[in-house]
Amino acid sequence: MVRLRRGVVGESRRVCHLIPVPRGPVPEHLTALCGESIFPGEAEVLDGLRGMPCHPCLLRSAPAGPGVLANAG
Ligand SMILES: [Zn+2]
Repeated sequence: MVRLRRGVVGESRRVCHLIPVPRGPVPEHLTALCGESIFPGEAEVLDGLRGMPCHPCLLRSAPAGPGVLANAG
């Protein structure tokens, strides 16, 4: 889970993105589940759940299947 650093983007865009662990060689940049590109030095790695989550990342990380969100809302 990463969040863009203060000053890289405005406060409203400093949401917490989910980043899949890349396989193979170290990539030039990381890509969040929502498609946001994260370049070296632009983000901080979070050691736990905190801050405002990126809703598209959350939606894409939810397990598929009927009834999984049956008790939501
Ligand atoms: Zn995201």
